[in-house]
Amino acid sequence: MQCPRCEQPLRARAVSKVPVHHCAGCDGLMVQLKHTVQLVQALGRQLDEQPAIDEHIEPVPHDGVTLHCPAGHAMTASGYMGARIAIIDRCERCKVLFIDGPEVEPLVRQYLRTKARGDDRRAHLDQQLAELDKRVTQMLMTRASNNMMGGGGF
Ligand SMILES: [Zn+2]
Ligand SMILES: [Zn+2]
Repeated sequence: MQCPRCEQPLRARAVSKVPVHHCAGCDGLMVQLKHTVQLVQALGRQLDEQPAIDEHIEPVPHDGVTLHCPAGHAMTASGYMGARIAIIDRCERCKVLFIDGPEVEPLVRQYLRTKARGDDRRAHLDQQLAELDKRVTQMLMTRASNNMMGGGGF
């Protein structure tokens, strides 16, 4: 199997049990689409520190050259997770993704940052719900005590 970027042989390896093909020539990683998230998560666990929610991630320039998968199909380039930080090449027919060496870390950081933002939003939502719950409880209690005092009115 040849590297889509530099045509050196790809070697089968595992990153925390996730099967990948690594190119020693350009440090690129080829991974099956179905293993992409597992791979990014595994690489994320190897980072020294987790990226902050507002971390700036420098986009990796893409040369626009169409790569070909080991089976010779033209690969499609698109931004990972809809962002332009890392433009990843994929073969829709072989269901593989090729991540250029310099793209690996920005991609992992982007994934973790997005996840942190999502978790942050969820935490915020939980807080809002808890406050709403408290207000409703207070309202019901006020209503109950008004009724007990014969206020009625509702
Ligand atoms: Zn290569
Ligand atoms: Zn292919």
